[in-house]
Amino acid sequence: MKHTALCIAATLALSLTSGVNAQKPVTGAHVMELTKEYLAVAPKRYIGSPGHLAAEHFIHDHFKPEAAKGNYIDDTFTARTPQGFMTMHNLLVKFPSTNPAKRDNVIVLASHYETNYWLKDINFVGANDGACTSALLIALGEYFRDHPPTGDSVWLLFTDGEESITSQWSDSDSLYGTRHIAAKWSGDGTLPHIKAFVLADMIGWKDMNVTRETNSTPWLEDLLAKAAKETGHSNYVFRESMAVDDDHIPFKQRGVPVLDIIDYKYGTSSDPEAFHHTAQDTIDKLSVQSLQVSADLFLGVIKLINEH
Ligand SMILES: [Zn+2]
Repeated sequence: MKHTALCIAATLALSLTSGVNAQKPVTGAHVMELTKEYLAVAPKRYIGSPGHLAAEHFIHDHFKPEAAKGNYIDDTFTARTPQGFMTMHNLLVKFPSTNPAKRDNVIVLASHYETNYWLKDINFVGANDGACTSALLIALGEYFRDHPPTGDSVWLLFTDGEESITSQWSDSDSLYGTRHIAAKWSGDGTLPHIKAFVLADMIGWKDMNVTRETNSTPWLEDLLAKAAKETGHSNYVFRESMAVDDDHIPFKQRGVPVLDIIDYKYGTSSDPEAFHHTAQDTIDKLSVQSLQVSADLFLGVIKLINEH
């Protein structure tokens, strides 16, 4: 992702709601465990690398029951990049609603699973940037396997080629996977069924505070604030506002309501982006608590979109 220069400090809303930590539907501890397993088998996941293939297998292996039902789709395509043509794979997992009247309404939950091609020569593993949010999607999928949606259908989209291939992010060198699938879904009539496209990016960081991302659709940002309040996590959101270029943009451009749940800040007080796209983006920067908050926010937002 890439953010623009404008940054507005927002009022820090402190939540006084204290959560009773009963067993959560998706636990931060489990997301952390999945993140560790993912990084162990696929530490570097740049396009064309053995780690990228291992990442695809890791995701597929967690969705064998869905694959057996035809609900796991490998969306393979060729992208023209500044480094030549590259084969990329979006991975889609569908959890259809048990309610026939609602089945055609879809909430897409997305995260990119690859690491930057231009960082292939350093030890960049993207623990926060790509790994923990892929783990979050897997954990949410396990939840929906055991608790099939009774409202809107839920689709998980593991996107490829979110990152730019060169170090110079541009509209033509970034967001390859979502540009491809948004165009495909526009052509085949899928797009009007998407009620909301909800993206996870960089939300495992210990000091996580979700940005009010101003390219997102306002009513979905409002639902995120409401979900934060309802889950007792208001102090984890909206300390700052910022416009971010991320995988939601190709869907926004085609009129789909979008929400990017992201914390663009990832570093120290003197250098707020010290760990972003560096070899320091490692598992020790993440916390179970932040992953718990992220899981709670996702489930809370899905509930509210269903009620919307
Ligand atoms: Zn990144």
